[in-house]
Amino acid sequence: MSNTSQQVKRQYNLGVRHKKSHITTTSYSYAQHCEHQYITNKMSNIRTIHDTPTASSNRFSMSPIGGNPIYVGTLFGIEITLHPLLLLYFVISAALPWLLNSSTMTMKVWLYLVVVNIPLLFGTVLLHELGHCFATRKVGGEVHGILLWPLGGLAYIGHSGDAKDDLIVSIAGPLTHIPQALLWYGLSQAFTQGTFMDMLCVQALWLNISLMLFNLFIPCYPLDGGRIFAASLQLMKVRVDIAAKICAFVSLVCALGIGLYGFLYNEIIAMFIGFWCAQESYNLYVHTKEERLQEHQLFSKYAIETNDGPYNQI
Ligand SMILES: [Zn+2]
Repeated sequence: MSNTSQQVKRQYNLGVRHKKSHITTTSYSYAQHCEHQYITNKMSNIRTIHDTPTASSNRFSMSPIGGNPIYVGTLFGIEITLHPLLLLYFVISAALPWLLNSSTMTMKVWLYLVVVNIPLLFGTVLLHELGHCFATRKVGGEVHGILLWPLGGLAYIGHSGDAKDDLIVSIAGPLTHIPQALLWYGLSQAFTQGTFMDMLCVQALWLNISLMLFNLFIPCYPLDGGRIFAASLQLMKVRVDIAAKICAFVSLVCALGIGLYGFLYNEIIAMFIGFWCAQESYNLYVHTKEERLQEHQLFSKYAIETNDGPYNQI
């Protein structure tokens, strides 16, 4: 065992239960707009990252890319804030359909796109983040707030539970799409097929289905699926360093897939997400290779909770 490993092991053996803290992030990417029906077909995904929780009173520090989040209200005791860039996104979302299709765009179609791109999408994202928040409270954790920004939403939450609690918190966000999808399906039955409201309900239904499937079944860290995968490996008693390597490799493959999807379908946000996930995957690999998992945002707690340390068998 190297000196580094011994130091790491000593740190693990302190037996300190560090509060698990993380930020869950909901993001999305766009598929092509259907040119004929002007239906925004979204391929959505949720990603989750860990970070140090920040005080809800310090909204500036909650922002992932700077800027001063704008407080818009409190839901269930949770502060909801918007990033200033999101307002820019709203303006672009509203203006772009006119600019790209000025000759054929009608007010009805424009209104449909605006509703889909702004309140529907971010309302869905907000409910997803609230799912993480409620689950966090359920496991005895704390919720510091939610920030909506151009790439989705961030829930600032923290808990001191184990991998099982992590799994519950991570899975709670995607599961919010089940009741949402059922609700939209039920509403769609109330409207005549092909009407504005029917199209809206169907769009919302598919948005929720795609969000849920993507986040549950794509094991890409730091997306929700990657966190679910990592927690599952811990519950299966996979050694921490091996689990981290597996997560890094699987996440990298998924990240490349997401990036490739973005490249092939001209989806800039998907490319960005793929790049970001690849970067995080590589970062996880480096932490594993350098035996610094105790410093990693996702695996630090797992490493600390391992009585003999993750490198005891090396
Ligand atoms: Zn999530």
